[in-house]
Amino acid sequence: MKLASRISRLGTETAFEVLAEVNLLRMQGKDIIALSIGEPACATADNIKDAAKKALDQDLTHYSPSQGIVEFRTVIVEYVARTRGIPVDPSEVVVVPGGKPVIFFSILACVEEGDEVIYPLPGYPIYESMINFAGARAIPLRLREEKKFSFNIDELRSKVSDRTKMVIVNSPHNPTGGIIPKNDLHEIAELALKHDFWVLSDEIYSRIIYEGKQESISQFPGMKERTIILDGHSKTYAMTGWRVGYGVMPRELALHVTRLMTNSNSCTATFTQHAGMEAMTGDQNSVDLMVNEFRRNRDLIVDGLNAIEGFKCHKPAGAFYAYPNVTAVCREKGFQDSKQLQQFLLYKAGVAVLGQQCFGARAPDEIQEYIRLSYVSSPGEIGAALQRIQTALSDSSLIKSFLKEEQTKNLITQRAGPIISLDKFNRNT
Ligand code: PMP
Repeated sequence: MKLASRISRLGTETAFEVLAEVNLLRMQGKDIIALSIGEPACATADNIKDAAKKALDQDLTHYSPSQGIVEFRTVIVEYVARTRGIPVDPSEVVVVPGGKPVIFFSILACVEEGDEVIYPLPGYPIYESMINFAGARAIPLRLREEKKFSFNIDELRSKVSDRTKMVIVNSPHNPTGGIIPKNDLHEIAELALKHDFWVLSDEIYSRIIYEGKQESISQFPGMKERTIILDGHSKTYAMTGWRVGYGVMPRELALHVTRLMTNSNSCTATFTQHAGMEAMTGDQNSVDLMVNEFRRNRDLIVDGLNAIEGFKCHKPAGAFYAYPNVTAVCREKGFQDSKQLQQFLLYKAGVAVLGQQCFGARAPDEIQEYIRLSYVSSPGEIGAALQRIQTALSDSSLIKSFLKEEQTKNLITQRAGPIISLDKFNRNT
């Protein structure tokens, strides 16, 4: 049977494929330390779980409004007004199952076929996937290591055109942990006003900041009218599996995003919204504790990585990812690229990380190699992972045998062809 052509334009998030690989290896009895997945390792706080249980006991298990329960939206309004310093009305909030649907729905609602959307590279792979899916042109904006993984404003200026319909910003940033300085946000805001484009501001890591404070582009004059703020409970409250997120956007757009909700999900699960409400109004101690643990883990992993020959790692200012430059390791040890290093570390060191290919197609002039390690687990596990990486990379015969196996695998694939090629559907691998 023939599929719709648009489906071939949809990308994916390869972190989930690595997760499946990790699970398979673990089922085979292999001991793998996973620093690959982007979610807090700690449990959801008890008060939040209790609120969900209470909601279930009260039979709050039916449909609720597609836009989100009004009490919850009121809580979100107060939170966003307080944290971003902007007035917000409940009619400007749409509750959705996780942060991702805000990307999906706002791109579908704002971007036409043939429009251009500028997005960060490296970046969260769903941006590029959704831009392509919508039939728009994905225009990458490079984040520069020498700018602590912010971008060059002149480079952004040169990419903005009459066709630019949206610019996506993500701060704190996945995968680099970088934060866009307030001045740069201001410059983007000026461009947005001048060229009349939307800004999708992905602020899902807004509470996980180690230096300075959260700045939202929505705070600048005239920006609230053209900004979609993405935030949610996945990272801040360790609630990735609950699926609670929200978008804050102009009222007219909120009406359309709500209609997309009605057409796709009907509503976000009612009892999880009650849990989400408790998360925002209850004791915030667990968030502070978690961020303090991440800060300690960040220092541990950055120092540990910098002590390994060939690694060069910036200290990230937010989120929970280290993004070391591993160009020297790849060149000196003979790995083709960071993807091959990712495979070596998974299969020979028992440590799952993500290579830079998981965060967008390589820019033509990009010659550096990077990997992402998420530092959400215990210091003991992080220490063990660092030890494993160091030991495996100092074992030249292990590297030699791995590279030989890779070469044989390549030869077999070249002769027989891949059994199933997912490449067409998977732009990020
Ligand atoms: N944006 C970014 C930058 C993310 O890293 C993630 C999750 N990895 C999301 C959005 C989506 O979050 P959620 O799981 O709530 O859909």
